[in-house]
Amino acid sequence: VLFDLVAFTKSLLEELEDIKKKGQTIWLQSENSIIEAFLDLKLFKHIIYNLVSNAIKYSEENKEIIIKIKRNNEHVNIEIIDQGIGIPIEDQSNIFQRFYRANNASNIQGTGLGLNIVKQYTELMGGTITFKSELKEGATFYIEFPLDTKKNE
Ligand code: ATP
Ligand code: MG
Repeated sequence: VLFDLVAFTKSLLEELEDIKKKGQTIWLQSENSIIEAFLDLKLFKHIIYNLVSNAIKYSEENKEIIIKIKRNNEHVNIEIIDQGIGIPIEDQSNIFQRFYRANNASNIQGTGLGLNIVKQYTELMGGTITFKSELKEGATFYIEFPLDTKKNE
């Protein structure tokens, strides 16, 4: 369906705001007030929901989480930035693997499935996902989707 990614993400963050027990501040920053595109809404929702849930789960109460959305030409770029525990270098090449969990996450609950599914869904949408992270500084996940503004999917 054709929908506005910015408005949709905003309402999704409100949903997350209600369920999160931690006190982080979540900011949504967009250079475009509206980004309309034909995307699979279910996949898009799952991807954002999972990445923001990770950002919440792997950072302390007093930290900030920033979501940036930007349209450029035929693509949309989304960044999910947290100031959490970070991902150890030695685990970085494995975190998209099913059931893989980094060493520093062992006392935080999880199954290690979220990112594997997020990556599959992103690729199903013709997109890519990457990240950068420094231990104890935080992590930033980058996703890019091709924007289909004309034909229906
Ligand atoms: P779940 O299946 O419930 O999502 P999970 O969060 O452990 O469990 P993934 O979301 O797949 O699994 O993430 C895999 C691993 O990558 C995590 O266990 C954690 O070690 C690391 N990780 C993912 N996101 C972050 C983040 N934002 N900050 C730090 N580590 C992260
Ligand atoms: Mg997860």
